[in-house]
Amino acid sequence: MARVVVIGGGIAGTAAALALHKAGHQPVVHEAHPDTGEDIGAFMTLASNGMRALAGFDAARAVAGVGFEVTGMSVLDATGVELAAVPLGESDRPLARYRCLRRAELGAVLQTEVDRRGIALRHAARLTSVTETDSAVTAHFADGSTATGDLLVGADGLHSTVRTWLDPSGPGPEYAGQRVFYGYSTAAPPPASGPDLITMVRGSEVAFGYLVSPAGQTFWFARVPGPPVDADDRARTTPAQWRDRLEPLLRPDRTPCADIVAGTGDDLLVTNALHLPSGTRWRSRRVVLIGDAAHAASPATGQGASMALEDALVLAKALRDAPTLDTALARYEHHRRPRTEQNIATSARLTASRPPTGSRSQDAAPPRDSERPANQPDEQLVRLLDWDTPLPEAAHDA
Ligand SMILES: Cc1cc2nc3c(=O)[nH]c(=O)nc-3n(C[C@H](O)[C@H](O)[C@H](O)COP(=O)(O)OP(=O)(O)OC[C@H]3O[C@@H](n4cnc5c(N)ncnc54)[C@H](O)[C@@H]3O)c2cc1C
Repeated sequence: MARVVVIGGGIAGTAAALALHKAGHQPVVHEAHPDTGEDIGAFMTLASNGMRALAGFDAARAVAGVGFEVTGMSVLDATGVELAAVPLGESDRPLARYRCLRRAELGAVLQTEVDRRGIALRHAARLTSVTETDSAVTAHFADGSTATGDLLVGADGLHSTVRTWLDPSGPGPEYAGQRVFYGYSTAAPPPASGPDLITMVRGSEVAFGYLVSPAGQTFWFARVPGPPVDADDRARTTPAQWRDRLEPLLRPDRTPCADIVAGTGDDLLVTNALHLPSGTRWRSRRVVLIGDAAHAASPATGQGASMALEDALVLAKALRDAPTLDTALARYEHHRRPRTEQNIATSARLTASRPPTGSRSQDAAPPRDSERPANQPDEQLVRLLDWDTPLPEAAHDA
């Protein structure tokens, strides 16, 4: 049994704790936030691969208790014409269906699950530095405390302190070229949309998506190309002002998007789409990165959380199956790096491309990748995410 110091109690950190605990290890999670309160109220979709990863460490049922299912996707053009309607993910497997939920809800469910299984989670523990020897690794926290283990898992997100320690001259997060608006509209009449459906709209200026919850609330996002929102702008601008800036970009289209935005109150936020360039160092002898700390992608593919959950499961399987720590970490990276870097590249491509502007031939084109994600896990991925299937060895294992 290894003592594992997990830095970060977000999605990746709590998931890793659950998976490592299942594999017989002893994780302790150290989270900088003073309480369980989450940051922003953005929502997210968890894809079928993320739900499968959760099932691997017995947390899918708990997560299926929050948010709502999404089983299909409709794609509209700027004139409101439906270009495609496709099933989404593994809609025939209830526990592997896509889900829409708030980020905070997912975090809260995973933290509750960590508590329920008796795994220690310490709040107000902000990592400041790491020391590593041949036999142990020690985390140093801002309050002067330390934690020592056999392995340290850096799950401390996009602005990771662990990554900076591992790779001081490595690249940091970069702006991916879009502002992303998120909102919840109750005032607007729910747009005509089937139950359990996400509607993606190829607007003339903005890529827009919306879902109507079972309670009749419209969850929406808009990806708007342009310069990043700077700190001053963010501090000065109210939700109503953001709404007034976004709505005119949507109004020329004959879609429900402008009305959805117009019907949104203060429940609206704006973020910059950021990503981490590929090629960062992921590990040393006793330290390894997972989740956004290792491979943050801009949100266009909607896979960040699902990738973090996959990481957690694969890391636990690698530690369970490999003969040494070094081999386990090498196997983990071997299985995770190509897939996560492909997600970064796909998301960056989608983020950089302007929405099509309405010629008939473009409008008739099939959905782009973001609108039709690789939503059916292939057989290799199914095996990778199955707890009982041993993790294949990496080529350089031997
Ligand atoms: C607005 C928005 C919308 C998104 N939508 C989607 C979506 O629809 N689908 C999807 O799959 N993904 C989505 N994502 C991406 C997804 O949220 C991330 O990929 C996911 O949260 C990554 O999880 P993580 O645990 O690696 O990082 P985080 O969730 O950022 O967690 C990192 C944790 O580490 C803690 N921490 C940081 N520094 C320290 C430190 N020094 N010491 C101790 N603790 C520390 C933080 O407080 C935090 O709790 C979205 C992201 C954003 C920002």
